[in-house]
Amino acid sequence: MHLYLHIPFCRQACHYCDFHFSTNTSNKRAVVEAIANEIILRKDYLPKADIETIYFGGGTPSLLDEEELHLLLNTINRHFTVASNAEITLEANPDDLQREKLQQFYNAGINRLSIGIQSFHEPHLKFLNRIHSAHEGEHCVRTAQEIGIKNISIDLIYAIPAPDHGILLQDMQKAFSLDIAHISAYCLTIEPQTAFGSWLKKKKIQPIDEEYAAQQFEMLVKTLAENGYEQYEISNFARNGHYSMHNSSYWKQRPYLGVGPSAHSYNGVSREYNVSNNARYLEAIQNQIIPATLETLSPADQTNEYLLTGLRTKWGVNKEKLEMLSGRSFLSTHHADLEKMTEKNWIREDADNWYLTDSGKLFADRISSDLFIDGELN
Ligand code: SF4
Repeated sequence: MHLYLHIPFCRQACHYCDFHFSTNTSNKRAVVEAIANEIILRKDYLPKADIETIYFGGGTPSLLDEEELHLLLNTINRHFTVASNAEITLEANPDDLQREKLQQFYNAGINRLSIGIQSFHEPHLKFLNRIHSAHEGEHCVRTAQEIGIKNISIDLIYAIPAPDHGILLQDMQKAFSLDIAHISAYCLTIEPQTAFGSWLKKKKIQPIDEEYAAQQFEMLVKTLAENGYEQYEISNFARNGHYSMHNSSYWKQRPYLGVGPSAHSYNGVSREYNVSNNARYLEAIQNQIIPATLETLSPADQTNEYLLTGLRTKWGVNKEKLEMLSGRSFLSTHHADLEKMTEKNWIREDADNWYLTDSGKLFADRISSDLFIDGELN
C-alpha cells in the first residue's frame, strides 16, 4: 500500500500556486500531531499490507523539524509494516536544505527528495515569487548527493515568459550537470485563486501563450530524451529507471491512504477528500472525527479516471481492464474513435494495451475525454 502525508505550510506563497497551504506556521506542531493521530484513526482504511511508498507532500514538508518528522515516521512504523525497500520521498524547498537538515532527513530514513527547483535562473525565480535563490537550488542538490541521497527529483516549470528558449535549455543543462535522476516538468498555468490569477484579471500580466508553451514542451521532451531521460509519464522523466514509485501507484490506480488537511485517499471503489482548512482539520481530529467527504466511484468514473491517468504513462491502458472497469464492451463501443485516433497517429496498440504516440501526447487530455464513457449508459 501507499501512504501520502500532506504538510500544509509554506514560508511564502508562490505566485502560481493553488495547493492547500498556510504561511502562518504558529500551529504547525499541533497540525503535525493531528496528522499522527489521523494515521492511527485510519490504520484500517486499507487491507493490511506492507507500505511500499511513503510521500511527504505539501505545502513544504522540509519545514518539518527533526522531532516532527520522527513523530510521523514513528507513528507509521508503530501501526504499519513498512517494506525494507520502501521508497520514502520528501518534497523540499532549497532554502530549507542546509547540510544539517539534509543529514537529519537522511538519518530518519528519507531516501528520495523531490526538490522544488522550478528554475536555475534568478529572474524567473523572482517572477514566480520563489523564496530560494538559483545558487541555493544548485547547492542543495550537491549537498544532498554528498550526504548520500542519490535519488533526487527536481521540478522545473516551462512556458515562463522569455524572449526565447535559451533559459529553459540552460535549466536543463544545469540539471544534467548535476546528474539529476528524475525531472518533473510542469507548464506554467494561471489559476484563478492565485496572485497571477488576480493580475491576469486586472490585465497586469498576459495569459500564457499556448503556442510558445507547446514549443517549449516539444523542445524539453527532445532534449531530455537526447540526454538519457525516459518520458514515462507526460510530465515525468527518469534516468536509468528512477521512476517515482509513489506517483506511479496513483497512475496505476493502486489504493492509497492520504492523511493531513486536503489529502485524498482511494480504496479502489471510492475516494475521500480531507477538508482543505487547517483549523477545521485540527478540530475534527481532536474530536476523533475524520473530516473527509466521500465520493463513491461509478464504473464510468473509474473507467474515465483510468483513461485520464493511464494514457499519460508509458504503460498505457490495458484493454481487459477497460472492459472490466466499465462493465461493458468498451472496445467495440469505441471502435470508430480508436480507429480515427490511430489514423491520426495519436494512439497505437499492441495485443494488450493502448498507448499515446509522441504526437498524441500533445493532445493527451482531449484524447482521454473523447474516450470517456457516460455514466448514465450503465
Ligand atoms: S509551490 Fe510549493 S512552496 Fe510554493 S506556495 Fe505552492 S506548495 Fe508552497
